[in-house]
Amino acid sequence: MTVTDSTPAPNFIRNIIAEDLKTNKYGGRVHTRFPPEPNGYLHIGHAKSICLNFGLAAENKGLCNVRFDDTDPSKEEIEYVESIKSDVRWLGFDWEDRLFFASDYFEQLYQYVIQLIQAGKAYVDSLSADEIREYRGTLIESGRESPYRNRSIEENLDLFGRMRAGEFEGGAQVLRAKIDMASPNLLMRDPTLYRIKKVPHYRTGNKWCIYPMYDFTHCLSDSIEGITHSICTLEFENNRPLYDWVLDELKVYHPQQIEFARLNLTYTVLSKRKLVELVEHGYVSGWNDPRMPTISGLRRRGYTPESIRNFCERIGVAKRDSIVGMALLEYSVREDLNKRAPRVMGVLRPLRVIIDNYPEGQVEELEALNNPEDPGMGTRKVPFSRVLYIEQEDFQEDPPKKFFRLAPGREVRLRYAYFIKCEKVVNDEKTGEVVELHCTYDPETRGGDSPDGRKVKATLHWVSAAHALEAEVRLYDHLFLKANPSDVKDDDDFKNHLNPNSLETLTFCRVEPSLKCAAPGSRYQFERLGYFCVESVDSSDEALVFNRTVTLRDQWAKILKTQAKKR
Ligand code: ATP
Ligand code: MG
Repeated sequence: MTVTDSTPAPNFIRNIIAEDLKTNKYGGRVHTRFPPEPNGYLHIGHAKSICLNFGLAAENKGLCNVRFDDTDPSKEEIEYVESIKSDVRWLGFDWEDRLFFASDYFEQLYQYVIQLIQAGKAYVDSLSADEIREYRGTLIESGRESPYRNRSIEENLDLFGRMRAGEFEGGAQVLRAKIDMASPNLLMRDPTLYRIKKVPHYRTGNKWCIYPMYDFTHCLSDSIEGITHSICTLEFENNRPLYDWVLDELKVYHPQQIEFARLNLTYTVLSKRKLVELVEHGYVSGWNDPRMPTISGLRRRGYTPESIRNFCERIGVAKRDSIVGMALLEYSVREDLNKRAPRVMGVLRPLRVIIDNYPEGQVEELEALNNPEDPGMGTRKVPFSRVLYIEQEDFQEDPPKKFFRLAPGREVRLRYAYFIKCEKVVNDEKTGEVVELHCTYDPETRGGDSPDGRKVKATLHWVSAAHALEAEVRLYDHLFLKANPSDVKDDDDFKNHLNPNSLETLTFCRVEPSLKCAAPGSRYQFERLGYFCVESVDSSDEALVFNRTVTLRDQWAKILKTQAKKR
């Protein structure tokens, strides 16, 4: 398991393209594509592929297509097509007029496969699926030829035509390439090119009952679109000889397939099958649940497109599988939001504080910085009054040694306001719980500075009780407790490692009044607490709901520091 560090990493495909441009391999063209199958929502792994394909095209003045690889009607849906389009756009990429569907090539692909049959390079096999598997052999044992392998071209054309016409049931026959049953590469042992599937397709309806397989469709779609570099993930390395075989046999334009290592992230899963399972069985509230590694989940959680793009650049592109720490993704969003998110004050678990010497009914509007990192973002007014809320965890009645925040008899600073001193603690008669504090303030410390140079050890955030808005805040933690939940034993299930505390909902939070008209999706830093985003699905004019995007605790920075120390 290797964890990538935070400096921009190498990208070997960038080098290949630079070399191809030097040798004028494709007449100076760079044309890539992003080829999703519309059978689920896009996730952060897809973002890596999107950034790579669109990025390489853009930096070489090339083009990048979006092509839906929609050859398996049983799981594909228009809802997925729409979500994928909106996610790619949100990430900041534009396919212009180059949105394609493999299903638009069905007729053309059919003509191509007829050519293969006519050339004696494909045949209709009537073995059952089980028999085909059995005949295929194993890694150490060569395969056996099907008794139907040497059917005449006429018989093959006739049978294949009847397959298309719907004369046979699913599984009765398949069309196979005639390559080599003794090939050491199992995928080259007469792979299936077409199968019967009597399932309506979300775009072509009932027009077809035979559908081309991925390996046949993908290379030809790339060829039809004039793709130069067909970038895919490592698990397709063994498919490359077949990619090449089909294009060579048909003597058509031949793009180059290049494989790279897919993205794996700690504490989550990036397999569509597993994500579908989480959605369909209600382990999460949907594809856009803010705990999901999907683009729509990350967006709802408060991630910016820039942070995701920076992350993808940082992890680099390699040939070797690795697992990237979630902390690096969190670092990327923190780094981006630090620059752009306005600061506000919000209290998650409020504790009432009464300033006994502050005049009843008086309200002061105190000036607060919107972003100390960027003075250009200006200031705002925050109301201060006699009754405030501070964070429960910022007070301890019997403080341990290293606790520097508020305690009986101790003085602290309220951010942008005054020094206050705790004079009296009110406890619940039955439970002993702290319910209220009585404090005094020093009017000389307005703005948070003491003219006599007196020091305090803590600065707390706060809101004015009478002015604050009620809000619900949702805190998130990793979806899984296990760093690599996909790595489980056979008798185990990845779902056994779900984190039961991945969502904590706080319903009595108070936030400063400047957030009154905060738009859904807008992002803020709640001072000392993290970055938060206005919930876009469940927020309304009546109910203000925030999602915590990420805390301020930068584990990645810590990792880098320890690494530096070791070196
Ligand atoms: P499926 O198992 O359904 O094929 P998939 O995740 O491969 O799932 P596709 O829709 O086929 O989904 O993927 C579209 C593109 O995104 C492909 O080129 C694929 O290689 C790439 N991709 C998918 N997952 C990752 C990942 N984790 N990292 C990088 N690229 C990925
Ligand atoms: Mg795939």
